[in-house]
Amino acid sequence: MGDTTKNLGDIYSCFSVKNKIVIVTGAARGNGLAISRGLVNGGARVYGIDVVDFSNSIKNENFFPIKADVTNADLMREVVDQIYLSNKKIDVLINNAGITKATSAESYAIQDWDKTILTNLSAPFILAQLVFGTMKDSGGSIINITSLNARFGFSNNPAYVASKSGLNGLTRALAKDWAKYNIRVNNICPGYIHTDMTKISFNDPVLFKERMDRSMIKRYGEPEDLVGIVIFLASEASSYITGADLFVDGGWSASGV
Ligand code: NDP
Repeated sequence: MGDTTKNLGDIYSCFSVKNKIVIVTGAARGNGLAISRGLVNGGARVYGIDVVDFSNSIKNENFFPIKADVTNADLMREVVDQIYLSNKKIDVLINNAGITKATSAESYAIQDWDKTILTNLSAPFILAQLVFGTMKDSGGSIINITSLNARFGFSNNPAYVASKSGLNGLTRALAKDWAKYNIRVNNICPGYIHTDMTKISFNDPVLFKERMDRSMIKRYGEPEDLVGIVIFLASEASSYITGADLFVDGGWSASGV
């Protein structure tokens, strides 16, 4: 039997995110906050973007909170330019900011439709275009946080399902166009994660049971459950992976009856 511990040091080093310059959107709370904290703990310099003031969230010299709306394309250009000027590179973009407005399809307001598509789909595309300019010579990793909704039908949330499905498709399109620049683009598709976004179903015994009946692992995920996969996709450990959908869902998507 071979020595399975041989070169383990090298294997671990390829998971390093030390000194990587990372942008995380929606970084003030929930998944974005946990992802940012995990990356900072791994030695990355993280620029978090969120609409709210979150200057007190992560106390670390490698965390830079920026109060800005990702749907403001002009502002995003300024933010990306500034990050590039300060660091001379951007290694990773994590499009995590997202909104949901659950209402039946028949009465879904067009304003909610437009806002959801703008936030969940158009803003990630614009940010990807902006970082492309900084990554095209040195490569990079773009990680889009989508959802189970990107693969399956869910009732009473047409804009969310459409925007997340669109983002999954956009990932494949960008992965194809930008592989020649060594820019990898992948989806993380979370299942039910315990955040403000899911607190209604988490706190409702009937809805909670419905969701857990489908899940193989009988709990909601915690935002920290996304950190390992983000570090993997941000690091060289995933250098041959692009255009992929990686489900972090407790087995929900693989489960039958
Ligand atoms: P939260 O609602 O808890 O956090 C989202 C954060 O994004 C908030 O801080 C929010 O600010 C911010 N945000 C919203 N719109 C913008 C904007 N235009 N510009 C900048 N920041 C913005 O959500 P989660 O942490 O649960 O979700 C994060 C991502 O993960 C989303 O894309 C979501 O769709 C996805 N996801 C979540 C799942 C879950 O079960 N929780 C499952 C699958 C996917 P504000 O305080 O103003 O709302």
